[in-house]
Amino acid sequence: MSKFRNFKMVDYVIYGRGSFNQLDEILASNRKAGAPMIFLVDHFFEGKPLAGRIPVQGNDKVIFTDVTYEPKTTYVDKIAGDLKQEFGVVSGIIGIGGGSTMDLAKALSLMMTNPGSSADYQGWDLVKFPGVYKAGIPTLSGTGAEVSRTTVLTGPTRKLGMNSDFTPFNQIVLDPELIANAPNNQRFYTGMDCYIHCIESLQGTYLNEFSKSYGEKALQLCQEIFLEKDTWDNESDDKLMMASYAGGMSIAYSQVGVAHAVSYGLSFLLGTKHGVGNCIVMSHLEEYYPEGTAEFKKMVEKSNVEIPEGICKGLTDEQFDAMINVSMGMKPLWENALGRDWEKIMTREKLRGLYEKL
Ligand code: NAD
Ligand code: ZN
Repeated sequence: MSKFRNFKMVDYVIYGRGSFNQLDEILASNRKAGAPMIFLVDHFFEGKPLAGRIPVQGNDKVIFTDVTYEPKTTYVDKIAGDLKQEFGVVSGIIGIGGGSTMDLAKALSLMMTNPGSSADYQGWDLVKFPGVYKAGIPTLSGTGAEVSRTTVLTGPTRKLGMNSDFTPFNQIVLDPELIANAPNNQRFYTGMDCYIHCIESLQGTYLNEFSKSYGEKALQLCQEIFLEKDTWDNESDDKLMMASYAGGMSIAYSQVGVAHAVSYGLSFLLGTKHGVGNCIVMSHLEEYYPEGTAEFKKMVEKSNVEIPEGICKGLTDEQFDAMINVSMGMKPLWENALGRDWEKIMTREKLRGLYEKL
């Protein structure tokens, strides 16, 4: 492995209230004759005003994505197969939604040009060919999926991203108006994904000035909107959108840590979603992130949201073992969090104790 990561970034970024209105113009130069643009839109927006603002032309197609469950390789393969059959080639894939829809858009773009199943490419640098043009338009902010080089998919045997230089978007449209009406709970869970990215990056052993610069800014923005302000307003949305971007940039050049490593186990066994799963774990990480955990609890209180409790009650030894196996497999996360000797610190027994608290 190379010593330094040569980080592939998103090609174009447009930011600002109302920037979504420029989508038609942005797409124009990326259209290929006869080949449609495919708009993958979070099913929440079916019948909502945003759906009517999508700049559909000619044989373009709008597909409402079912994100009841986090994206699966089977779902990606199904849509890719259908599109190839219906159109042969497409001009591009435009993902409009939260992290799940953006991840689906990235994966689908890659599967329009790479053979086989998306499950074949779960891992690092396995993708062979660039995908078709892809754009990401967040309607929830926090995951950093808009800037990352991965798309997290649940496959037949694992939950793992298609990490590659072909994965980042060609274009992202950051329009804070699109996240304005997210429900309080959902906005908090996804927003806390960003807060947790900051804590894990800034408290990690992989930290460097690149990650620190972005992580500190994202953390400051999260503190302003989730602690210092008394009401949520337009400025909060503007800031949250940029916090997500900066938080994503921070972990791109470092790594996440304990909350994510433990939350992946919950998600694998119980199907717990990324945002809320991280929150459930973060409530119990005093030992690893004392200040971050205390501040997180203040944010929970101030935002008036419920963090589920007791989700591991009554699980069998086998089930705990399954979660522990998944979690222990996230080696770089543990190494970032606890250092090279992490296995001496985070033993299976200790991790079991942590899961029992959740
Ligand atoms: P999500 O995309 O899973 O959406 C959560 C819910 O919010 C859904 O029910 C959706 O329909 C709804 N929703 C979306 N926008 C809305 C809006 N504006 N108003 C009301 N409801 C809205 O949530 P998320 O937290 O953004 O994303 C989580 C996903 O992101 C997971 O699948 C996770 O694996 C992935 N993720 C990816 C990366 C990456 O780098 N690629 C990083 C972190 C997380
Ligand atoms: Zn995350």
